[in-house]
Amino acid sequence: MTTPAANPRRLRIGIGGIGIESSTFCPHRSTADDFRQTRGRELLDRYTWTRPESDLSREVEWVPLLHATSLPGGPVEAESYLILKDELVTRIREAGPLDGLVYDIHGAMSVIGLTDAEADLTEAVRAALDAVGTPDGGRPMMSAAMDLHGNVSRRFAEPVDLLTAHRLAPHEDAWETRERAARNLVRCLREGTRPHRAWVQVPVLLPGEKTSTRLEPAKSLYASLAEIEKLPGILDAAMWVGYAWADEPRCKAAIVVTGDDAELAAAEAEKLARRYWDARRDFVFVGPTGDAEECIEKAVASDKRPFLISDSGDNPTAGGAGDLAYMLGKLLENDAIRSGEVTAVHPGITDPVAVARCFEAGVGAEVTLSVGGKVDANHGGPRELTGTVVALQRAADQKDRAEGGAYDRGVDMAAVRTGGVTVILVERRKPFHTLADFTGPADGGLGIDPRTFDLVVVKIGYLEPELYHMAADWLLALTPGGVDQDLLRLGHHRVERPLYPFDDDAYEAGDGPALTATRLGTLDG
Ligand SMILES: [Zn+2]
Repeated sequence: MTTPAANPRRLRIGIGGIGIESSTFCPHRSTADDFRQTRGRELLDRYTWTRPESDLSREVEWVPLLHATSLPGGPVEAESYLILKDELVTRIREAGPLDGLVYDIHGAMSVIGLTDAEADLTEAVRAALDAVGTPDGGRPMMSAAMDLHGNVSRRFAEPVDLLTAHRLAPHEDAWETRERAARNLVRCLREGTRPHRAWVQVPVLLPGEKTSTRLEPAKSLYASLAEIEKLPGILDAAMWVGYAWADEPRCKAAIVVTGDDAELAAAEAEKLARRYWDARRDFVFVGPTGDAEECIEKAVASDKRPFLISDSGDNPTAGGAGDLAYMLGKLLENDAIRSGEVTAVHPGITDPVAVARCFEAGVGAEVTLSVGGKVDANHGGPRELTGTVVALQRAADQKDRAEGGAYDRGVDMAAVRTGGVTVILVERRKPFHTLADFTGPADGGLGIDPRTFDLVVVKIGYLEPELYHMAADWLLALTPGGVDQDLLRLGHHRVERPLYPFDDDAYEAGDGPALTATRLGTLDG
């Protein structure tokens, strides 16, 4: 292991990365325009630890490169990816010597025509870093901050000195993860150490909705990372669930333990991998599930209000098209809802043409629209909807938001009511995760309060905190779409087999997969 002398001078550390979670089962295409791109001071302002008053900033000169983050979606178009990649690499090459890079990415980017997009990007970033070198003529260190729904292939992990990931799902620790990546990097640079890395994949692929850390076994598995990290000789322990809606060999769970003690790192990685494997059948959906009709029937019959239902197959924040009218159709087929005896609000069907029609018609007008089903036409296509425009909101009246780092910009929205259903149409894909997404700003906006409806039917998987607290009861509807929770009906054919749950009984006879950690060693400076 290389142990260059501890470094007393001010460090120069770059920050950059490209982050998106993109489903190869979704017909939507993500482009450069979907990414919130930050550079310069705006990039540094994403974080607290880059502020001038932060303790880290006293010893580090932060060098903002390019950061690009998008709402999840379909695969990124090749040309858009190349534009972003080239800019990041060029900015590294033009930055001058760097001691290190905080590599702020997601880990589940799919790019049209590429397999393992993160490995492709990382190899290019590593080559650019090696070309500029450190101010002392050494090899810059890379510290990746990732989402636990990312994938970690060996090819991706190899050029990265430090890898860490969120430990909570929902990702309430998203910013903490990035800070840990930065602090671990500064610590290694200060101490002049390069960590050993033990990497192991676990042949298990699960949807996020079965691996929430609010529930066992994910809760204990993820809690144990902090314990492993406390062991002498260990710097960080990270575990990835992987991304279930991409069809690539790298899609599976992975573990990386980093530290000075190569033996211990490998032993802990293997123990954790075995625990994950042994628990594979204990991962269950975060809530009671059913198909769309079952969930609607139960919610209508319940006296719990508001009753939330997740339209999980078309969740834009997992990579769904967000334009399916499948659930809207099911709501309108229910007599109690159609008659208005039971009310429901159903936000977030993407349809720019329908939204424009509503703006032309104005509040109070009756409209007949062909709603949704245009981007993802696989599950019933557009739905005809006749109703009254009850509210309109312009994009300009909303604040752009970077929730956990993802890009969520203002969009034109229209609410249309028919019978008991109020459907909120959006001009472009938009998550509804907070109360403010429905109401708009205090001085205007849609003004729709989901708490006044009997049913709230959201394109989401597990509930984000504000919805979670609002819900008197909740069902996870296993609806079709680009992020279908029922993985077996999606048709993966490029994932490495055997893989749980696709080959449930593959290891019945023996002791299970080997789960031997690969010692990636240290990246010599
Ligand atoms: Zn995630």
